[in-house]
Amino acid sequence: MSANLDGYEAVIGLEIHVQLRTRTKMFCGCELSFGDDPNVHTCPVCLAHPGSLPTLNEQAVRYGIQIGLALGCEIAPRSIFHRKNYFYPDNPKAYQISQYDIPLARNGRLGDVRIHRVHLEEDAAKLIHVGESGRIHGSDASLVDFNRGGTPLVEIVTEPDLRDAASAREWLQLLRSTIKAIGASDVNMEEGSLRCDANVSIRPAGSQELGTKTELKNMNSFRFLERGIEAELERQVALARAGEPIEQETLHFDPRTGTLTPLRSKEYAHDYRYFPEPDLVPLAPSKELLDEARASLPELPAQRLERYQSELGIPEAQAKLLAYDGELGDYFEAAVGAGTEASAKGLANWITGDLTARLREAAGEEGEVHAADSRVTPQAIAELVAMVEAKQVTAQAGREVLAKLVAEGGSPAEIVEREGLASISDSGELEGIVAAAIEADPDAAAKVREGNMKAIGPLVGYVMRETKGRADGGEVTRLIRKQLGLG
Ligand code: ADP
Ligand code: ZN
Ligand code: MG
Repeated sequence: MSANLDGYEAVIGLEIHVQLRTRTKMFCGCELSFGDDPNVHTCPVCLAHPGSLPTLNEQAVRYGIQIGLALGCEIAPRSIFHRKNYFYPDNPKAYQISQYDIPLARNGRLGDVRIHRVHLEEDAAKLIHVGESGRIHGSDASLVDFNRGGTPLVEIVTEPDLRDAASAREWLQLLRSTIKAIGASDVNMEEGSLRCDANVSIRPAGSQELGTKTELKNMNSFRFLERGIEAELERQVALARAGEPIEQETLHFDPRTGTLTPLRSKEYAHDYRYFPEPDLVPLAPSKELLDEARASLPELPAQRLERYQSELGIPEAQAKLLAYDGELGDYFEAAVGAGTEASAKGLANWITGDLTARLREAAGEEGEVHAADSRVTPQAIAELVAMVEAKQVTAQAGREVLAKLVAEGGSPAEIVEREGLASISDSGELEGIVAAAIEADPDAAAKVREGNMKAIGPLVGYVMRETKGRADGGEVTRLIRKQLGLG
């Protein structure tokens, strides 16, 4: 669904960089390791000493192929590495080894978004701007840590198929969980192992042409991505309505102020003077490598989503929550397989609903506790849902049991027993409480008797209070009607 943009339609395409989780760098044997002292993971290759030669990392290629396959792409039988020339202190070679006109993979699709291309490249080193404290000859200084330089990256470029900020966020979540399922990366936006630039333009709703786009750089959380795109769409619509042109430029989104500031005017491919990397042979994956990469793909989130909906009958919104969060999906499946009578639909409902809400509440400002790390085992939630479905406890009492499980863990049956939360199964006892309710509120009883069913509320409320939510609502209504002579 498109956001309301005053007759305009949003057009969004994403460019995503993923740091691969290989043991060593893309073109040398230096270890990939985070948080170590600066410049300890370096060698002549990644420091660009003259005469050093790159050697391609096979595991990076395997991950790249798996990502390409998971995104439904064609894998190039023979792809080429290029030098992308630029001068900046984060890159001692003064070029980045990347892929240009023949990328590793292209023409794919994930969900509703077409994939333009997937290619391999290397990351730059990390610049640390020490500013005033590191002034040299009156200028602010920057330091370079080459540990990150040469880290294997996969770049994924989508077609401009997204139509609003929320879908961009949701789609990126799908991409993230897909790569995570493969195990190719930590895909952590805050830590920079998943980085996303958003290309944004608008056009009159219904038009097929593309408008001038701007590029929002490096949004480092899902929330910022969504907010950044929203802010940029607002800015573009305001310009368009004022009859002013939208300039093609690169923008930085400041999440604190919600403002967008230009970074640099857009560079063009010819500025980079791409040319084929003479020190690397073309990448021609063997049939064995392709077969092995394909065979070792796990069940992917898009497939899970499909299975949860078609085989288990779970509504789309819940199925997405489970399928796009691999750990939550695993938790759900463990609960389904726990050997209770609980239905998959009921479990999906409780896990994505009450359990998630309770855990969020319990975690408070501190952040989230994931179901898989909580005190509520899949077995326990399955037992609880089975009891609710068998009407051994009411939904309301079930929520009380869940609160206890979140706080202290344990077995639902024991909590029900200990807290006296079992449904009132003795209909004699319930009949007595219903009679008391009618006696306590003769006005309401009279109205109900005359056919005003809205007046039944206080009577049901009385019974629920007396039974502490342990009575089945439908049964209570039935008994009240019966005792008032309404059948
Ligand atoms: P560039 O040559 O400027 O890098 P590309 O055609 O390579 O542009 O596209 C880069 C990214 O921008 C892709 O993700 C693509 O989907 C997206 N994109 C291209 N044109 C538009 C547009 N008019 N509006 C929004 N996104 C676009
Ligand atoms: Zn190295
Ligand atoms: Mg481009």
